[in-house]
Amino acid sequence: MEGVLVTGTAQASLEGECVRCLEPITDEVTVNFQELYVYEDHALPPSEGEDDEVSTLRDDLVDLEPLLRDAVVLALPFQPLCQDDCPGLCPECGARLADDPDHTHEAPIDPRWAALTELQTEQN
Ligand SMILES: [Zn+2]
Ligand SMILES: [Zn+2]
Repeated sequence: MEGVLVTGTAQASLEGECVRCLEPITDEVTVNFQELYVYEDHALPPSEGEDDEVSTLRDDLVDLEPLLRDAVVLALPFQPLCQDDCPGLCPECGARLADDPDHTHEAPIDPRWAALTELQTEQN
């Protein structure tokens, strides 16, 4: 098959939110890509039900967009985190635990046990 082998590197900046604490994240991904573009005359006619489409050269122009899009999407983190061990948000008050790691609350008393606590207080 005659064609053009395109190889390259692309950098993309991304913005998102930490999946645990919703802190905004900006990051950069660098992707390498490689794809063979076949001259249209030589490309096989597209057969239905086949996933591996052949990229073709049209008028000696290469359409890099789908190639770049796929490469960048694959490089994106599935669950972006602001830091690898992000502790997330406090389930009690929603504070960001990374900002306030010593953050504590009085242990909430399960209402089913509250009556027992009262009994204990009376006994003492
Ligand atoms: Zn986070
Ligand atoms: Zn809290």
